[in-house]
Amino acid sequence: MKSYNIALFFWGVFIPSACVGLFLTLFIWMTDGWSSGYLVRLPVPVSVLLLFLLAIASTLACFIFIYLPFSNRRDDMLRSMLVRLASGDASDQQALFSAGAHRHPIGSALLHFLQSVQRREQQLLKLTKKDLLTTFDTQNGSVSLITEELQKSGSPFDAIAVRINNLRTINDMYGFEHGDNCIKEVVYRLSRIKGRGIRMDSGDLLLLSQAKSGKADLNALLEALLHPVFSSGMNISMDVSIGIVKCPVQADSAETLFRRAWLALEQACHSRSHIQYYHTDLDKSYLRRLLIIAELESVFKGRDSEFSLFYQPKVNLDTGLVEAAEALIRWHNPVLGHVFPDEFISLAEQTGLLPKISFWVINQAIRDLVVFREKGISISVSVNVSAQDITDTTLLEYSVNLLKANELDPSRLCFELTESQLLMDPDLAISRLCEFRKHGFRVSVDDFGTGYSSLAYLKRLPIDELKIDKSFVLQLDTQPDDQSIVQTILALAKRFHLSVVAEGVEVPTSLLMLQQWGCQWVQGYLVSRPLSQAQFIEWFCSEDSHAWQQGCLEKP
Ligand code: C2E
Ligand code: MG
Ligand code: MG
Repeated sequence: MKSYNIALFFWGVFIPSACVGLFLTLFIWMTDGWSSGYLVRLPVPVSVLLLFLLAIASTLACFIFIYLPFSNRRDDMLRSMLVRLASGDASDQQALFSAGAHRHPIGSALLHFLQSVQRREQQLLKLTKKDLLTTFDTQNGSVSLITEELQKSGSPFDAIAVRINNLRTINDMYGFEHGDNCIKEVVYRLSRIKGRGIRMDSGDLLLLSQAKSGKADLNALLEALLHPVFSSGMNISMDVSIGIVKCPVQADSAETLFRRAWLALEQACHSRSHIQYYHTDLDKSYLRRLLIIAELESVFKGRDSEFSLFYQPKVNLDTGLVEAAEALIRWHNPVLGHVFPDEFISLAEQTGLLPKISFWVINQAIRDLVVFREKGISISVSVNVSAQDITDTTLLEYSVNLLKANELDPSRLCFELTESQLLMDPDLAISRLCEFRKHGFRVSVDDFGTGYSSLAYLKRLPIDELKIDKSFVLQLDTQPDDQSIVQTILALAKRFHLSVVAEGVEVPTSLLMLQQWGCQWVQGYLVSRPLSQAQFIEWFCSEDSHAWQQGCLEKP
């Protein structure tokens, strides 16, 4: 405001007076001054009027030729500044100064505003560079640093990536506060190695270290990281993986380093040792995964004939009959060849394509059920679905309507969900599964024994069947540990009135054991491998299946 008054005084008083003085001097000079006596001859009022008119004329001239262009320029500047501000650009304060707009009250308020926006922007920028929980640099904030490190010739370093594999389960079971404590504890335990820490976008941690880290050092680090974390009175077990990228040999840019560290971690999660050094084959499998995703997307643009549904029989040991089958998807792609579900189902889930696959499977299974009925084969079919599928209400509606249209009872269809899928959001799963059962569908927990479901949780689940994971069944005949686990699951299921399917039965001895322990259903290569619809019909009507159905069960 002060500077605005000064401006007013300057333009309103000082400049006009100066101009009057200038004009007077000019006038005197032009009329040859007092000495010639011209001015003296003019009457005084006329002289005063003349001087007054001259003052007004000079003020007007100042206003039109100096003040107006100046203020127009300043207003244009303020206007363009406001337009830029509206589009989120608060950078150029210098322009305000150069146009003198900062002396105007609005201009000075704008300048003040711009300065505080810029201060806040700088604070935010700082925050995006540092992760508050770990105090490590963020992935974006560390790019220039990594680029610099990689360009320094002759200073090799290791990028050690660390992931808490069961962080999601920890968050689900104990809450985010305990999950955060586990991350902080990992950061603390990592501080035994000198280096610069980065928190990657996926939540994984990365340590850039010039200290030599051989196999023994990494094993010691893993051992330290695996120690349970004591958090608010609880001991929380952690499942941790480590991936290593040798720099700069294996990564020449920050982007490559992040990708390769992630690839090594992905592999480490599935390896026995939980430690994985990056190697070029990992890139190949990454490219294959990208190709699978691209091909999967195009399958749903009119190429779904690449999919087929196979059936693996389930034998009811109480009756000795093949009364059910599991529908298992198969995919033959012209570019990729045969792709097994274990490879593409999880990718479909990650890319949001799984619901489309599930709709296709349910549609095909119901059409095949109609064909089986026509051939006199009375069985029920199990389809594999995910947690994503059961939360989608349209899938339930679709199944109900399609079965009704084909005059099939809903009990002909069983929905299999893996234990880990059920644990993602237990309450939601329970309410959705209740809906499925209300409509008469059967519900089964697949791969049982691999998750962490507690007894209390099992009691609440609206399910009909447990499928013992094949990892406990494949070597049941020789492994006492597996025998104990299977017997425990059978006792548990009996207690909760659930029927049990043992999948992965390959040898007669295992079958006999299961039969003796009261397992009602078996599924596995001993009975049959998964078969196409035509093969299944042929097998069902053949001697092979009759052997099962006519007392073969007593023989093993
Ligand atoms: P799953 O649902 O646990 O299916 C059983 C898997 O075990 C099948 O593998 C089957 O071929 C295999 N298997 C059965 N008996 C034996 C045996 O005696 N020995 C051995 N070694 N293996 C046996 P497949 O068909 O490769 O399917 C793998 C997994 O892919 C399935 O595990 C299931 O989780 C998933 N999957 C298959 N089809 C579908 C589908 O249509 N939708 C969804 N969402 N997942 C599917
Ligand atoms: Mg299954
Ligand atoms: Mg299974």
